[in-house]
Amino acid sequence: MAADKRGAADAPRETFPDIREAVRRLCAGFPGEYWRKADRERAYPKEFVDALTQSGFLAALIPESFGGSGLGIRQAAAIMEEIHKSGCNGGACHAQMYTMGTILRHGNAAQKQAYLPKIASGALRLQAFGVTEPTSGTDTLSLRTTAVRDGDHYVVNGQKVWTSRAEHSDLMLLLARTTPKDRVKKRTEGLSVFIVDMREALGRGLAIKPIRAMINHATTEVFFDNLRVPAANLIGEENKGLYYILDGMNVERILIAAECIGDARWFIAKASAYAKDRVVFGRPIGQNQGIQFPIAKAYAASEAAALMVERAATLFDAGEPCGAEANMAKLLAADASWQAADMCLQTHGGFGFAEEYDVERKFRETRLYQVAPISTNLILSYIAEHVLGLPRSY
Ligand SMILES: Cc1cc2nc3c(=O)[nH]c(=O)nc-3n(C[C@H](O)[C@H](O)[C@H](O)COP(=O)(O)OP(=O)(O)OC[C@H]3O[C@@H](n4cnc5c(N)ncnc54)[C@H](O)[C@@H]3O)c2cc1C
Repeated sequence: MAADKRGAADAPRETFPDIREAVRRLCAGFPGEYWRKADRERAYPKEFVDALTQSGFLAALIPESFGGSGLGIRQAAAIMEEIHKSGCNGGACHAQMYTMGTILRHGNAAQKQAYLPKIASGALRLQAFGVTEPTSGTDTLSLRTTAVRDGDHYVVNGQKVWTSRAEHSDLMLLLARTTPKDRVKKRTEGLSVFIVDMREALGRGLAIKPIRAMINHATTEVFFDNLRVPAANLIGEENKGLYYILDGMNVERILIAAECIGDARWFIAKASAYAKDRVVFGRPIGQNQGIQFPIAKAYAASEAAALMVERAATLFDAGEPCGAEANMAKLLAADASWQAADMCLQTHGGFGFAEEYDVERKFRETRLYQVAPISTNLILSYIAEHVLGLPRSY
């Protein structure tokens, strides 16, 4: 059998080589030491986010008419994958790329004109997305934050949790209840989406409290105490907010899946290099099948998952339904990155635990994707119910 000379980290016939090369060049300026320091200090990687913003990568999905690059989700996925494959972390800013989709698809002309060009240029940061609450968790329809109309404002009260990047964002997309649950005709109605200008709101009904977490993700709790939000900041129709949020979720899932593929490829490249170099019992550890096979398995799993990410992105760009594929892409890619993470740590033995190898940091970071932005169980429930027609389990 002819040997295949591709490096393990190089995707076969990689898509968009120019974009990938440009992202790799940018990421080369942010090596492991940069991320280690930020992680140690729980500091926001501002320089990295600024560089990505200035390069225009975060505006990839904004149409050219609003100052973005008007690229498709396949290109956006290539950007996120390369960031993670280079050892960097898009979690610091990925929301800037896709959260604006709710404004783009459902905002009115004035909102699009007011926000999209500034989001594209980076003059406005839309990094915060307030959905999850402490008491409702995954059960979004039970969220308790309310927005009550009062003249030309809404008055918001309640609390969000895990609102990432709130301290590093000018705007927040907020999901709140505008009609009590027991007064809606359809259970999926009664929620509305608002653009909250946090620069005006902070200290005037909005408070942010950082959560120290396992990973450096700038995540927070957000408290609303009679916060007045202009009615002009309501997106689309009142009570239809869940639909506006849901239709952006396929994009989020595909892009997060691409990040997972990037992580998996980083772990596989790192483990392969180490397994070739590390000599124990007078030979490279990579000569042992006990080390080789888990690397090979992780590689096969990540390549298979990458195909599903590509398929979901292709369907999305073609305007075809892609809910099943986007969910499967997220599930398979998150599993592949976690498999690769575990393998990489094991391949490194004790050194996998040492900060300086970056393995333990990436290991912690990629674990998130089993839980957020949607947990593995909920994706399985979606596939069971909506793809296979099994009874709803919750
Ligand atoms: C670092 C980080 C950043 C985040 N950033 C954001 C953000 O920016 N904005 C935001 O809105 N949210 C954010 N989240 C929240 C994230 O989306 C939620 O943590 C996630 O959706 C799960 O919700 P939960 O934590 O309340 O878990 P719960 O809903 O309490 O679930 C706990 C466990 O039970 C399982 N479970 C629950 N119900 C079922 C069921 N019916 N069947 C089977 N299993 C079930 C879940 O899968 C999970 O494993 C973030 C979370 C983290 C950790």
